[in-house]
Amino acid sequence: MKIALIAHDGKKKEIIELSIKHKEVLSKHTLYATGTTGTLIIGETGLNITRKNSGPFGGDQQIGSMIAEKKLDLVIFLRDPLTPQPHETDVSALLRLCDVHKIPLATNKTSAEIILTALEKGCVTEEDFTK
Ligand code: PGA
Repeated sequence: MKIALIAHDGKKKEIIELSIKHKEVLSKHTLYATGTTGTLIIGETGLNITRKNSGPFGGDQQIGSMIAEKKLDLVIFLRDPLTPQPHETDVSALLRLCDVHKIPLATNKTSAEIILTALEKGCVTEEDFTK
């Protein structure tokens, strides 16, 4: 499965915690991330991740284009809802494309935990994500 990992600056700590906790299941999938998020996760976990540009420099749009091309099966995007983002339009576009293409999307740590735990326990399979 192809999974994208993204976190706003205020949520970087949470995505690192999530990646460490779910490293084993994540390592079984093909991972993508925006620039800074990817660098931090790689540094903390050693996971193999293809990094796109940093979010404010087009990374969210690159991930969005992967969604449009049906090259992603799951997006984990830990958004910071309390801090204005200079690239808010790119963020909204990415979230919209997930809905357009019915791509599962977790925008907070609890949702991401539930999805990754379900994957770990085999409660959901790759097929469930690609319907
Ligand atoms: P970053 O981008 O991983 O490069 O920080 C994430 C974002 O802010 O969209």
